[in-house]
Amino acid sequence: MSEGRLPRVRYRDGIEIERADGWLVADADTPPATGLLSHAHGDHLFSEPPNQLICSELTAALAARRTDTDVTAAHHPAVDLRPAGHIAGSRAALIEADGGTVLYTGDVSTRDRFYLDGFEPPSADVLVVESTYGTPEYVFPPQWAVEQDIVDWLDDVDGPVVLFGYALGRAQKLQLLVKRSRRNRLFVSDAIAALNEPIAAATGVTFGAERWDHDRALADEDALVLPTQLNGFAWVESLIESAGAATAGVSGWAVDESFRYQGGYDATFPLSDHCDFEELCRLVEAVDPEQVYTHHGFADAFARHLTAKGYDATALRANQTSLSEF
Ligand SMILES: [Zn+2]
Repeated sequence: MSEGRLPRVRYRDGIEIERADGWLVADADTPPATGLLSHAHGDHLFSEPPNQLICSELTAALAARRTDTDVTAAHHPAVDLRPAGHIAGSRAALIEADGGTVLYTGDVSTRDRFYLDGFEPPSADVLVVESTYGTPEYVFPPQWAVEQDIVDWLDDVDGPVVLFGYALGRAQKLQLLVKRSRRNRLFVSDAIAALNEPIAAATGVTFGAERWDHDRALADEDALVLPTQLNGFAWVESLIESAGAATAGVSGWAVDESFRYQGGYDATFPLSDHCDFEELCRLVEAVDPEQVYTHHGFADAFARHLTAKGYDATALRANQTSLSEF
């Protein structure tokens, strides 16, 4: 429990946490000399790397690959990085700040799944929590049930299948589910194959996928995993049509029926790398903070929900300083 003023938090280029020696900047596009990187997803990643990048070794390897820069992971004595359970290498940060401790979750999942241990929330004076699925509509079925539904679909569909998911994170889990199914050949795009390598090296997991060769035709027993952003590309459309392939879109947003129509998928599955609404609520309870800041997704709605539960909660807005500053 802190006494007096709590550490200040603000949202500018990235999320900034006040320490006695200045602001510690997390997940910024152009961080200052020292920057914290929670994980290597594009919406958290720098365009210009800082001199000192506080992150896990695997996040540094993935970031180097995604940005074509030369970065290595650094440690900071006031920053305790803890597995965030979101994607391989992702870390939450427990920070010794000016007036107490701040827990910055980055993107987070508390579910154990595949090669990831779910996030175990420590207590902190101030919590900065992502709120991607911060409304009650977004509650996922049990993890095992979603995984089984996907394997059943892979087993039941006649003919080839094309699965769409984020290249970093979802695509690796889809490959492992294809391996559990009767499908005997698994292909991935070059972008996914490039990300598989450091993840396989760090986790010891083997994905067993071949790089997709555009001259090849999809055979009946084949599964192809592609990054979501390729859905709708002309070559992908014609590949699906000529092979008579069934398509699946895989994302937490699949809880909402409209996800299927918007993506034009044959099937959708709510396999997610984030906390759902109930998991977010339990995370906040476990941290038991004096102040909560929400960001990403349903930040306003989740802050309102927490306020109604008796928390001091505010949605972070870009370029607005925290209330405690006034
Ligand atoms: Zn992420």
